Amino acid sequence: MIAVVHHPDYVTEAPARSTYRWGKNGAIRDLLQAEGAAIAWHEPAAMPREWLEAVHDPDYVAEVIEARVPREKERRTGFPITPTVARRAQMVPGGTYLAGVLACEHGFAANTAGGSHHALAATGAGYCVFNDLAVAAHRLIEEGRAARVAIVDCDVHQGDGTAALTAGHPQIATYSIHAEKNFPVRKARSMLDVGLPDGVGDAEYLRILDETLSGFLDTHRPDLILYQGGVDPFAGDRLGRLSLSEDGLVRRDRLVAGLARSRALPLACTVGGGYGDDVMAIAARHVRVILTLGDALAR
Ligand SMILES: [Zn+2]
Repeated sequence: MIAVVHHPDYVTEAPARSTYRWGKNGAIRDLLQAEGAAIAWHEPAAMPREWLEAVHDPDYVAEVIEARVPREKERRTGFPITPTVARRAQMVPGGTYLAGVLACEHGFAANTAGGSHHALAATGAGYCVFNDLAVAAHRLIEEGRAARVAIVDCDVHQGDGTAALTAGHPQIATYSIHAEKNFPVRKARSMLDVGLPDGVGDAEYLRILDETLSGFLDTHRPDLILYQGGVDPFAGDRLGRLSLSEDGLVRRDRLVAGLARSRALPLACTVGGGYGDDVMAIAARHVRVILTLGDALAR
């Protein structure tokens, strides 16, 4: 059984002026439902305000919760923060946190949303409102569920918000492998950044990932991995600059799972990026990430 965290609030109507594809979280749920008894469903609670404020600026948290985010921050985020979007923004970190708790019990769990790695202390950015990875890592450590958390980010974009929000935290280690020339233009500093040139394909990507991530895990010795498993390194992605095939993405996730498994590390995954017009094809890629990791790690 693969533990999957989902909440109906993840699936919201796209606000006007939004180019973001909100439908994909619902499509991920629908595709996973077709897996039947292989999936154990869990519903999260909204992340309590004090845990959001532990990582984000309390004034920004208030702006989001009260749906009064200034226009320039909404522009940077990529969509307006309506009350519905605000509700979703509190629910998704709750889901990533619950996936972390469940991963510690079952070896693996997935959130059907999240991976909001561009969100910064006082503003959203790049389709991210609150940084679920940083918030969840912080809470899991404070509650004593993990002593050291590694946030492993294989989205094609750098995990700049995650790096900035966890910098200096001795119990959180950040790894990001991304297309160097992609968004964000100004990168933050993760504990280990692997910036790739445009057009890197399967073999090269997998070789570099294997080498750098195994060294990172051995150096930082986490007892839990939060995984940003974005599917935008895919060659056909609208916002990616790398050239991974469908099979390359599967091999990426088998590799990450293998590195976790050989170190007896539980892993919780979030959805991350995946962009293009064919929402079902993107959702199918996200589902493959969850099933590939679950096959290797769930117990
Ligand atoms: Zn991305």
